[in-house]
Amino acid sequence: MKKILIIEDSKSIASTLSLMIKEQFGYKTVLGSSVKECAKILLEHKGRFDVALLDLGLPDSTHGEIVDFVTKFNIPIIILTASTLIEDDIKNRSLNIVDYVIKDGIYSFKYALSVIQRVINNKAVKVLVVDDSKTFLETTKKLMERYRLTVFTAKNGKEALDVLNEHQDIKLLLTDYYMPIIDGLELVRTLRKKYNKDELSIIVTSASKEKKTASKFLKYGANDFLYKGFTQEELFVRISANIELLELFEQLRQKANTDYLTNLYNRRYFFEQGTKILESSKRKNQPCAVALIDIDKFKMINDEYGHDIGDIAIKEVSIILNRFLYNHELVARLGGEEFCILFDNCDEKETMIKLELIREEFEKNVIDLGVIKLKFTVSIGCSFNSNSSLDKMLQEADKNLYSAKDSGRNQIRYRK
Ligand code: GH3
Ligand code: MG
Ligand code: MG
Repeated sequence: MKKILIIEDSKSIASTLSLMIKEQFGYKTVLGSSVKECAKILLEHKGRFDVALLDLGLPDSTHGEIVDFVTKFNIPIIILTASTLIEDDIKNRSLNIVDYVIKDGIYSFKYALSVIQRVINNKAVKVLVVDDSKTFLETTKKLMERYRLTVFTAKNGKEALDVLNEHQDIKLLLTDYYMPIIDGLELVRTLRKKYNKDELSIIVTSASKEKKTASKFLKYGANDFLYKGFTQEELFVRISANIELLELFEQLRQKANTDYLTNLYNRRYFFEQGTKILESSKRKNQPCAVALIDIDKFKMINDEYGHDIGDIAIKEVSIILNRFLYNHELVARLGGEEFCILFDNCDEKETMIKLELIREEFEKNVIDLGVIKLKFTVSIGCSFNSNSSLDKMLQEADKNLYSAKDSGRNQIRYRK
C-alpha cells in the first residue's frame, strides 16, 4: 500500500490532510510534528514513503532543515508553507522537491492531493524529450525525473521516431522546433498520421519569438505549446494537465470497452479487437479458435435465489476464466450468461486441453454464500475454422454450443 509521510506541527492541518488522503486514495499516512519525530518515523519505516509533505516552519527546523534531512531518503517532497515568498535557497535546496503548497484553506489541500496522485501515477508514465541542445535535454530530463516520470531523450525528429518505435508506450512528447534532419513541425505532422491526440500528447517548446509559431503547431496537431524559458512550475503544470487528459481518455475507452458487472471486455470490443486478431493470424498462418461458454440452467439460479445471486454466478465465470486464461486469449462477456474466448495462435490440441480444464473447474467449483452453496456447470461450443470470418466462427461455435446443450449440458462440442 502507498505510504505518505506528513510532517506538520499544526495538528488540524496534519489531520485534515491525512483524512483527505485516506478517504480519496486509501493510502496510509504517517504523521509527525518535528524533525526529531520525522527521524524516528523514517527509521521505523526504513525510509520507505512514496511522497513526503513537509512543513517549512517546524519548532526544530525554522529554515527548512527538514528538507535536507528527508532528501537523504530520496522521497519526492511537497513543501507546505504559510507564505508565498519562498526564498531561492530553499527552492533549490533539494532535487526531490516536487512542488510548493501554500496553506490557505481547503483548495490548497485539494491541490496537494492532486500533486500526490500525479507523482505516484507518473511512475508508469513514459515521456520523450526531443531537442538538439544537449544542455536543454539534460536539464529538462532532470526536471521531469523530479516528478518521477520515466524520461527518454532524442537529438532530432528522426531519432525521436526511432525511440517511439522502440517504446510504443511513450505517452507524452516534448519537442523543440528547429532541429537538424527532421524538425519539430515535420515530426508533429508525421506523428499525427499514426497517433491521435488522445493517444500521444505532444507539447512543443520553442525559443522562436514569432507570434505565429504556437498557432501553426497547434493547427498541425500539437496538444500544447510552451515558449522556452519556462519555469519548473509551468512545465510541471502543463505536463500534468496533458497527462491527466490522456488518463481521462483512457478511462473513457476502458468504460466503453468493458462490461460493468465482470470487468471483462464487452461485445463491442470483442468484435473490434477479435476481427483484427483474426486478420493478423490469417496473414501469419497461425491457428485460432473461438469458444462460446454458457451457464447451464442459469434461469433456475435466478428463479430460485434471485437476480443478485445470479449476478454472483456471472461474476464467478469471469473469475474462473481469468484464472485459467492468461496468455493470448481475448475473453469477453457477450451478454447475459454467455461468454466468448478467442484463442490466438493456439492449436487444436492446446485449445481442447484448456477448455476441458475450464469445464471441469466449473463442475468442481462451489461458491460458498453461507446458507447457499451455489454450484453450476457450463456448456461450451468451439470452432477451429480460422480461415473464415469472426462472424462465421461464432455461428459455428453457437451451433456446437446448442448441440452441447441438446446432448445434456456440462460438455464441450467441437465441429460437427
Ligand atoms: P440453458 O442451460 O439452455 O442455457 O438455459 P438457461 O436458463 O441458462 O438460459 P436462458 O437463456 O433460458 O436464460 C438466461 C437467463 O439469464 C434469462 C435472463 O433473465 C438472465 N439474465 C440475463 N442477463 C442477466 C444478468 O446480467 N444478471 C442476471 N442475474 N440474470 C441475467
Ligand atoms: Mg444458459
Ligand atoms: Mg442462454
